[in-house]
Amino acid sequence: MNATASEALFERALAVTPGGVNSPVRAFKAVGGTPRFMVSGRGPYVTDADGREYVDLVCSWGPMILGHSHPEVLAAVNAATAKGFSFGAPGPGEVLLAEEIVARVEPVEQVRFVSSGTEATMSAIRLARGFTGRRRVVKFAGCYHGHVDALLAAAGSGLVTLGLPDSPGVTGASAADTVVLPYNDIAAVEAAFAEFGDEIACVITEAAAANMGVVPPLPGFNAALARICRANGALFISDEVMTGFRVSPNGWYGLEAAIDATWAPDLFTFGKVMGGGLPAAAFGGRADVMAFLAPAGPVYQAGTLSGNPVATACGLATLRQCTPDVYARVDAAAKTVGELVSAALTAEGVAHRLQTAGNLFSVFFTAAEVINYDVARTQESFRYGPFFHSLLEAGVSLPPSSFEAWFVSAAHDATALDRVAQALPAAAKAAAAAKAPTA
Ligand SMILES: *Cc1c(COP(=O)(O)O)cnc(C)c1O
Repeated sequence: MNATASEALFERALAVTPGGVNSPVRAFKAVGGTPRFMVSGRGPYVTDADGREYVDLVCSWGPMILGHSHPEVLAAVNAATAKGFSFGAPGPGEVLLAEEIVARVEPVEQVRFVSSGTEATMSAIRLARGFTGRRRVVKFAGCYHGHVDALLAAAGSGLVTLGLPDSPGVTGASAADTVVLPYNDIAAVEAAFAEFGDEIACVITEAAAANMGVVPPLPGFNAALARICRANGALFISDEVMTGFRVSPNGWYGLEAAIDATWAPDLFTFGKVMGGGLPAAAFGGRADVMAFLAPAGPVYQAGTLSGNPVATACGLATLRQCTPDVYARVDAAAKTVGELVSAALTAEGVAHRLQTAGNLFSVFFTAAEVINYDVARTQESFRYGPFFHSLLEAGVSLPPSSFEAWFVSAAHDATALDRVAQALPAAAKAAAAAKAPTA
């Protein structure tokens, strides 16, 4: 049998790139098979190297909120590239994008641009440590903040545990200052502060956890974190790399502030949507904290391509197109897909749970309410591979892991959603027929 163009590219990639990919989840390890190599995107569709078109439910893991190749964004990027790519000097685009972010997210008084979400969380933690003069960082099991050494720590056993390295290459020393707690567990946070109180520089959490599948914060969880931090002289960092500018014009904070505006994170991290598909990310927040950053203050942080004119033009054009109507369409498309998936699985008698956080959603193959990583891991993940491949063959591309959020865009119209609807019954049958691996 002749290899497809994607298979041939994967063979070549394996020779020159570890695992054949530049970010692990793309390799399809969790679902089996080999990845489709994508060559173009238009609206809600992506096309692979064999010319096959898919309804895209990955959306570059979030950035493509307007769909692919949006004409206004394309025009802004083309205009920027025509003027040169990078100058290593400040430019007007950075000011405009910073003003847009500061105007949208009320507690953010200043931002600093970087090139990835990883850089944003890494820098925010350095800043929190520099500002407080403390070393420990509290994070939650199952929350992903990029591949920062100190944040690649896994929980040991017990309620309050010091981090153990989650990856070879992360030293015990860089993980040991990280305290890993169960998500949505305020008692554990209080216990950690009782034990380490004046050593904790910051608590970092995903604004709504969506990297273990979608696990929304329980009502009041984020507000309680902010209050506990405030009372103990620690900073509260809300990681909105995924949620920022996606779940609402002002991110997850905006959704919570509409209910209770008596609290706010001290620092935020952003990425994904704010770059519109090019590498742009940011961290920002209280002006007195941000004043600690070089060159205003002593905490060093820098980047050759930070605030890149092409990336900032792409991000600014994307945010300017993100009108209330766009959010309404994204919300509606997310609701439709979620309900279709749930109905198809119900029809086949597959135990599952649709979880949402604003317009972020994912499906767990368990009947249990998933409130943290321990529960997330009890799902029947073996059902996901057959479900995924059935949809992929039918022209629907979804995240290649059952521990990822699904993404839609404002371009996901009735035609695209109908294709998903047509493909789901067979996929649900495949999920129902899946057999647990024998130990
Ligand atoms: C994607 C993500 C990151 C990392 O961003 P990169 O640009 O991939 O480095 C950090 N935090 C959260 C919540 C994310 O979803």
